[in-house]
Amino acid sequence: MTQAQLTVLAGPTAVGKGTVVAALCKRYPNLKVSVSATTRNPRPGELNGVHYYFVSPEQFDSMIERGDMLEWALVHGKNKYGTPRGPVDEALAAGEPVLLEIDLSGARQVRSNRPDAQFIFLAPPSWDELERRLIGRGTEGPEEQERRLATARIELEAASEFDHIVINDDVERAVGELAALIGLE
Ligand code: 5GP
Repeated sequence: MTQAQLTVLAGPTAVGKGTVVAALCKRYPNLKVSVSATTRNPRPGELNGVHYYFVSPEQFDSMIERGDMLEWALVHGKNKYGTPRGPVDEALAAGEPVLLEIDLSGARQVRSNRPDAQFIFLAPPSWDELERRLIGRGTEGPEEQERRLATARIELEAASEFDHIVINDDVERAVGELAALIGLE
């Protein structure tokens, strides 16, 4: 099996990207997951430099101006999120597999900059299940939930743009399928 160097994983809010990626990293410590920069505030338990680089809107804009972002997007119409280019290029140069967990618009930018990357869409088993997961995790208020569900509807319609669709019906099963697609051993 060949190893895809750069893999982009996208999928709607609350589909379980965070859980799946954490399980994937635990099983395959050689996989490098890019740490994004964001202007949103940390949630309880989130650490700067681990889950995200939490930066001010001004810091974010100067990263864009310096050309330091491989891609970036305004997500859910609210906060900016982006992939710092340096660590990705360094890992790829060292021959390490790299995973980006980003939104649809970011995935489209990477598609045009790095056509050799592999694009995987993580999908929920059903729309009802996605709503249940978003409301059940309780990290967003009703207004933010609505905003995220609106984005999710648009993202789900774009699933066919991706090279592969993985259904997150069971975390361990989805992790196994992803590992095979990425070529992890
Ligand atoms: P959350 O606020 O729940 O951590 O993330 C919200 C969304 O931002 C997720 O759907 C995630 O895929 C997206 N996201 C996280 N990091 C990046 C990034 O670096 N670039 C882009 N384009 N989207 C990102």
